[in-house]
Amino acid sequence: MHSFGFTVLAQQGAARRGELRTAHGVVQTPAFMAVGTRGAVKAVTHRDLRDLGAEIILGNTYHLYLKPGDAAIARLGGLHRFIGWDGPILTDSGGYQIFSLADRRRITDAGAEFRSHLDGSKHLLTPESAADIQSRLGADIAMVLDECTAFPATPDVAARSLERTARWAARARTRHLAIAAGETDVVPSTPGQAQFGIVQGGVHEALRRVSAEATVAIGFEGYAIGGLSVGEPVDVMYDIVGRTTPHLPEAQPRYLMGTGMPDDLVESVARGIDMFDCVLPTRNARNGQLLTREGPLNIRNARYADDDAPVDAACRCYTCRHFSRAYLRHLASTGEMLGATLGSMHNLCFYLDIMEAMRKAIEFGSFEEFRQNFHRTFSRQPLTR
Ligand SMILES: [Zn+2]
Repeated sequence: MHSFGFTVLAQQGAARRGELRTAHGVVQTPAFMAVGTRGAVKAVTHRDLRDLGAEIILGNTYHLYLKPGDAAIARLGGLHRFIGWDGPILTDSGGYQIFSLADRRRITDAGAEFRSHLDGSKHLLTPESAADIQSRLGADIAMVLDECTAFPATPDVAARSLERTARWAARARTRHLAIAAGETDVVPSTPGQAQFGIVQGGVHEALRRVSAEATVAIGFEGYAIGGLSVGEPVDVMYDIVGRTTPHLPEAQPRYLMGTGMPDDLVESVARGIDMFDCVLPTRNARNGQLLTREGPLNIRNARYADDDAPVDAACRCYTCRHFSRAYLRHLASTGEMLGATLGSMHNLCFYLDIMEAMRKAIEFGSFEEFRQNFHRTFSRQPLTR
C-alpha cells in the first residue's frame, strides 16, 4: 500500500514531468484521466483502457451517489472492486453536476440542495457529506465540494462564490481528516485517500490569487483549478491558468478540471498543470468526431465513404491498425454500437499519446519544440479532406 505522494522528476519552463503515488498505484504526469461518469468510461472496457495506457480514471460522485448509492458500493467492496478497475481513481465532489441542474438546485452556506434528475427526490450535499460519500466510494483522490462560478460572472459574484468555496473547503478538510483518524462512523473503502482543494475566482486574476492562497492555507495533498472551460475564450482560460499556477505549491500536483481540446492540454502543461480530465474524447467519438495529428475529422462526412485509410496512419491504436475510415463511417451512419467503441478507443489513445509525448519532451528538454510542432500541425477546425 502506497501512501499518497508526488514528485517532480523534471521541469522545463513551467512544464513539469512528475509521478503521482496513490493507494492503487503510480500515475505518470502530466496525466489525462478518462471520465467514467457512472463507473464506466462510455463504450470502452477497462481492459482496453489498460491496453491504451490509461493509468487513472475519474468517477462522478453525483451519479454514483444517486445510483447505485455510496452505501451499496461500500458494501460491495468500494468503487475499485465494484467496477473491476484496480488502478487509481479520482472522484469529483458532485458539485459541478449539481450546479448544472440550474432550476433544480439551491445553494446556501450549508451546502447544495437539489432534486435528483432521475426521480425528483430531494437531497442536500454538504462539504462534509461529499467527503463521506467519496470516502465510502474509496477514491484514491477525493475533491472538495466547491461552488463553480458561471461565466460570465461579475467580480462581486465571483468573490462571493470563492469565499463560500473557501469556507466549504475548510469544512471538507476537517471532515476528511476526522474520517482518516477514525473519529467518524464512516469506514473508508480506500485507506490513505488524498483530498484536493479547488481554486475558483472566475476570470479575475486577483480573485484567483485570493482563492489560491486561501485554499493552500487550509492545506491539501493537491490543488485543482475549477470554473474554467465554462464558455470563456480559450486565450482567457490559458491566461488565468498561467496566472494561477504560480500561487500553487511547487511540490504538489495541480489539476485543471474539465479541460479540454488537445491544444488546451499542451498549453496548460506549458503553464504548469499536471492532471486533466475531459469528456471530449469519448463524447466527440460518439458524435463521429475523430482526432488526427492535423485536427479533428467528422467521420460521418460523405467524403470518407470510399476512404480506405485509417483515421490516423501514425496512430498505434487497435482501431487504426485494423479499420478504415470507410468502415468507421459505415458504423457511424448505421448507428452500430461498435462505432462508438472504436472511435472512443482511438480518441482516448490520441489523448494518452499526447500526454506521453509531452512527458518525454519535458524529460529530454524539448518541450518547447514539441509545443511549436504540435501547433504547426494541429488545427481545431475539422479537416476538409
Ligand atoms: Zn487510432
